[in-house]
Amino acid sequence: MSILDAKDDLTKFRAEIRTWLADVVPADWKARMARASNEEYIAGQRWWMAERRKVGLAVPHWPVEYGGAGLTLQHLIAIAGEMARADAPMARMFTISLIHLPGTLFPHGTEAQKRHYLAGVAKGDVWCQGFSEPNSGSDLASLRCRAVRDGDRYVVNGQKIWSSYSMYADHCILLTRTDPDAQKHRGITYFIMDMRAPGVEVRPIRQANGRAEFGEIFLTNVSIHAENMIGRENNGWRVAQATLASERGVIAFEGAERQRYEIEAFYHKALASGAAWLRDDQLRREFMGFLAEMQAGRRMLRRVLAESETPEASASVLPSLVKLSATVLRQRICSFMTRIAGVEGQDFALLAEEPFGSPMFDFLSAFSGTIAGGTNEIQRNIVAERGLGMPRV
Ligand SMILES: Cc1cc2nc3c(=O)[nH]c(=O)nc-3n(C[C@H](O)[C@H](O)[C@H](O)COP(=O)(O)OP(=O)(O)OC[C@H]3O[C@@H](n4cnc5c(N)ncnc54)[C@H](O)[C@@H]3O)c2cc1C
Repeated sequence: MSILDAKDDLTKFRAEIRTWLADVVPADWKARMARASNEEYIAGQRWWMAERRKVGLAVPHWPVEYGGAGLTLQHLIAIAGEMARADAPMARMFTISLIHLPGTLFPHGTEAQKRHYLAGVAKGDVWCQGFSEPNSGSDLASLRCRAVRDGDRYVVNGQKIWSSYSMYADHCILLTRTDPDAQKHRGITYFIMDMRAPGVEVRPIRQANGRAEFGEIFLTNVSIHAENMIGRENNGWRVAQATLASERGVIAFEGAERQRYEIEAFYHKALASGAAWLRDDQLRREFMGFLAEMQAGRRMLRRVLAESETPEASASVLPSLVKLSATVLRQRICSFMTRIAGVEGQDFALLAEEPFGSPMFDFLSAFSGTIAGGTNEIQRNIVAERGLGMPRV
């Protein structure tokens, strides 16, 4: 029986995924990634997507007519749970392709856009998101990248920044300003941009953890056909809301499940080896606190997921609360790991030798979570204003 043949019985569906993962995920994939160059890491991402594609798990949540399997949220939760349990690779490079692009095209794209671009994603196309600019991040609506109409095309000039995996992307979902005189939310237009078009230049940005997963995108007289507009001219802000809301919490759910298995494995290893920190009351208390907070976070995430398909979802502050607590907890756990790893945990030379998965790598990487997808300060504003009814300042 294949995985998708078992989709009508969630228990069997899970069991099929577990069997497949046991078969396909190499035991040493993390160790291999530890010394991987950027190019090897990217090749690993492509390999993982290809394996998922073979068993129908590349785009399982899309409708059948667009190449998906029409699976429900419960199936996605089952897949994410099993991926976490198996400590399988994550298809990070494909997040925009798999989540944000369809989340935008399904409500706002033309039929031709859906057919053409979603078929490309199902085959492995990489997409990036060109939203943030050097002076427009939290205040995204102030963006200045300019698109000027010229017949049936637009000429685009400007700069984008922090665009994840843009160096490897085939296409970009791009926000531009088409009416500089309109109120700032009203003069924005949303485009699909070919990353290989003349005038597109991507410069990688090296991060504190040694990797280069972001790029700056420089656009000089880039020509985009009007048929690549998503939604109407100057209505891009509304379309962008669909992109930003598209994630539905499944990625956060998988992250929380992964953290749970990671922490449990860490604890059992410490017990087996009689680790010294287990005899330190303060460290033990700190660790047990993580376990309690983690369970609370997992419960909150289940509520976010249950709520995600209801009309209340768009006004809920729960996703903000989850993001706040999960990202800060992640930082604290990673800080704990570097401290108990002793001198080696602080060693930057080790970071260069074995970056991926070392305590210092994880610690430095943990900071990005409090910035990506809306900073924690912005999440606090949302909780204060929408959740507690506090006045806007
Ligand atoms: C891992 C990661 C991946 C990303 N991927 C992408 C991507 O693919 N595409 C893309 O377009 N962007 C991406 N980003 C960029 C991200 O969306 C922005 O970094 C984020 O929105 C913050 O914007 P900024 O960096 O300009 O900071 P700013 O908005 O300049 O904020 C600077 C500081 O001021 C605080 N601040 C700002 N406004 C307020 C306010 N109103 N109240 C209180 N405090 C405030 C912020 O919290 C922050 O501490 C990514 C970022 C990260 C970390």
